[in-house]
Amino acid sequence: MNPKVILTLWSFRKELKFVLIAFIAVLMLPVVAVILLTQVGINVISNKLVDQNPTNQAIQIKDPVTGKVVKEINPTIVWPTKGVITLEFGEMSIYQPFHTGIDIAGKLDDPVNPAMDGTVIYAGEIFWGFGKHIIIDNGNNIQTIYAHLDKIYVYKGQKVTTDSVIGGQGETGWATGVHLHFQVNVYGIPVNPRVFLGDGSPPLTALN
Ligand SMILES: [Zn+2]
Repeated sequence: MNPKVILTLWSFRKELKFVLIAFIAVLMLPVVAVILLTQVGINVISNKLVDQNPTNQAIQIKDPVTGKVVKEINPTIVWPTKGVITLEFGEMSIYQPFHTGIDIAGKLDDPVNPAMDGTVIYAGEIFWGFGKHIIIDNGNNIQTIYAHLDKIYVYKGQKVTTDSVIGGQGETGWATGVHLHFQVNVYGIPVNPRVFLGDGSPPLTALN
């Protein structure tokens, strides 16, 4: 290259740095947008999908488009396992900017049960994300997910009730330590499990 060109470029080195920073910022825009959208989006949508009737505590399933209550249900709901809550819905973790479920940490193979009666529609393992997990269809467009399991005791198509033991707590997939990631989807979209579980705490795991 002509030494004059090199000299000219060198004299613009400060400006070039700004151009480079601006270029990187533009490249990052879609990433930032997706993070913002998933955070704000899920929050807004989930509030629209499900609620609790303040007078009779029934669970209200809402039309995702109009936000009108389409059904009120009164299922038997129990905590899906024992332990302490380590992460609430919507909180930030190293794996998700917006936590899509509630984490309950007990001991390895502490029994996991359905939070509501239903039918198993998935029982298997992926080697990332949820790891070994079970998905139960609870009817009324509600599905519950039980993730990071160490053991799975049910099969696809099996009918289960709140007293069935469906699996054991583990740390398969993206998990830092033994816990159950419990998620409730309504119309396929994660909603705050607290709408179903209430403000309380799960039973504590037995000591030993
Ligand atoms: Zn989780």
